[in-house]
Amino acid sequence: MSNLRVTVWNEFRHEKENEFIGGLYPNGIHGAIAEGLREHGFEHVRTATLDEAEHGLTEEVLAETDVLTWWGHKAHGQVSDEIVARVQARVLQGMGLIVLHSGHASKIFQKLMGTTCMLRWREADERERLWVVAPGHPIAQGLDPYFELPEVEMYGEFFDIPQPEQLVFVSWFEGGNVFRSGCCFSRGNGKIFYFRPGHETYPIYFDANVRRVLANAVRWAAPVAGPEFPYYSANGRFPAINEKQSLEPIARKESKRARIG
Ligand code: ZN
Repeated sequence: MSNLRVTVWNEFRHEKENEFIGGLYPNGIHGAIAEGLREHGFEHVRTATLDEAEHGLTEEVLAETDVLTWWGHKAHGQVSDEIVARVQARVLQGMGLIVLHSGHASKIFQKLMGTTCMLRWREADERERLWVVAPGHPIAQGLDPYFELPEVEMYGEFFDIPQPEQLVFVSWFEGGNVFRSGCCFSRGNGKIFYFRPGHETYPIYFDANVRRVLANAVRWAAPVAGPEFPYYSANGRFPAINEKQSLEPIARKESKRARIG
């Protein structure tokens, strides 16, 4: 059992607009992800979607969220910049963020990475083999050396992200491409994990290994009770700290230098 408070965010458009996808994910992609987390003992899982007020990500919801998972695809541009800034600030403050599949092109991931986050892709029902390349990492706990997904959308290198601080999975695809499919980053006090699987036309979020990885990733990304992030602000304009009072005495200087800061 886990007391971590998880919010599962989903764009939730494909499932409503396409009958086939709605059939695969009758409770939405968010519903399937939340169900998988509950299976793994998370008792405080809530969901939020794009069309809710403030995309379901009010300041109150984010303040009560230890780890946020993010799935989006066709409506990245409809996510308000104000909410993106709010999520970014919470990540810097220490909230964990798990970015899934096509979330690579979301505003929040691009903002946190500072790169295009673009990649190669192909829809050809290919087999994917995900190799664990950090077998001692908490996100790999309970996995075999590799696992496979029978039919997926391919994502291929070059994936334009900063060098991950830790790489947990590398994918091989039937068509010959490879991809860094499990990437760890930190920004401020927050931990970020990008996980590749999860195209909307496949039942990926019902797969037992995928569900295990997501549960492990949520545990890994949970906030740590260390020193507070000193530059937090809810509106995304981060304050510098004028440290006028020094801890130790500073000898008086005869400098005529102007101080304009
Ligand atoms: Zn996709």
